[in-house]
Amino acid sequence: MNPYLGVLLLIGLLVVSWRFMRPRQRGEKSERPRRPERKVEGFHVWSPLYVRMGRGCIQDYGMQFGQGFRRKEGPLLPHDPHCRCETLPFSFTSSEVFAGALRRVSEPKSLEPGLPAEAVPKLMAALKRINAEPVPPDADAYIATIGADSLDAGTQSAALAFLRERHGFLTGTPPSPPASNNRTDPAEGASLAAPAVKNP
Ligand SMILES: [Zn+2]
Repeated sequence: MNPYLGVLLLIGLLVVSWRFMRPRQRGEKSERPRRPERKVEGFHVWSPLYVRMGRGCIQDYGMQFGQGFRRKEGPLLPHDPHCRCETLPFSFTSSEVFAGALRRVSEPKSLEPGLPAEAVPKLMAALKRINAEPVPPDADAYIATIGADSLDAGTQSAALAFLRERHGFLTGTPPSPPASNNRTDPAEGASLAAPAVKNP
């Protein structure tokens, strides 16, 4: 065999293999920046926390809905005459979602002067947990169903005062309040509490 032919064949092989390799490398390179981060967009039901917050509002608090969600539509608002619920839009990248963005989608807010906003997430979670349960006639029994452990240590006394007021609202028997801003209407509280108690 001619040695020149051997060299030519080798060069030919190299050229052919380089041509085959090149497009693959190009594809790999251009694919990475072209892939945009997926956006997770939707709405969530948000409300500040207040003594007279209805059970429907508590139940739907934090509900997420929209195109990419199992639930496509939100609840019919308002839930009741006191309802302060809003549906707020959100948009996150998939990595933000991975880092837990959907769990802390909005700022907690309290409408009660003595109750700091930091107390809201745990209190709201506790209220959600017992939302379907009947309200015990005794305020201490009501607080026991929530469990002091499920409240933040730093804001516990404010949360307990809130729960006493809420119990008064739910049962229509307002507690003797230390604050002067208690405007609980017994008749209204009773009418709102009645269907909830019947609820299993
Ligand atoms: Zn509502």
